[in-house]
Amino acid sequence: MKLQSKLLQSDSKLQCAYCQGTGKDRFGVMSALSSCPACQGRGYHWMTPPVVACAYCAHTGVSPTGTRNPCLACGGKGVHQRSPDAPLCENCGGTGRSRSGHFYCHPCHGSGRKLSYP
Ligand SMILES: [Zn+2]
Ligand SMILES: [Zn+2]
Ligand SMILES: [Zn+2]
Repeated sequence: MKLQSKLLQSDSKLQCAYCQGTGKDRFGVMSALSSCPACQGRGYHWMTPPVVACAYCAHTGVSPTGTRNPCLACGGKGVHQRSPDAPLCENCGGTGRSRSGHFYCHPCHGSGRKLSYP
């Protein structure tokens, strides 16, 4: 294990990227008052640091396929629980996209970073 004593904390509240902290559905798919499907209307997610921005949705939490759904890779959180020091994923070169471009990169789950970092 690499020493990350400063980074290792208990869970932190991170603003939901999909609804930008409003707790409402970003696109109002059902109605303008629907709660955010990514955070169930809380407006935040509990995450254990460190986290990195989701490469697949570019930290927006929105699926880049244009379906007006939360990003499948990060579930709308916009981040992945991953060390910022983790090397880029070799499969996608850090883009978080599969080679076909229609789905997130499986080895890194769309984070663009290697999963198996200690
Ligand atoms: Zn949300
Ligand atoms: Zn994402
Ligand atoms: Zn990848």
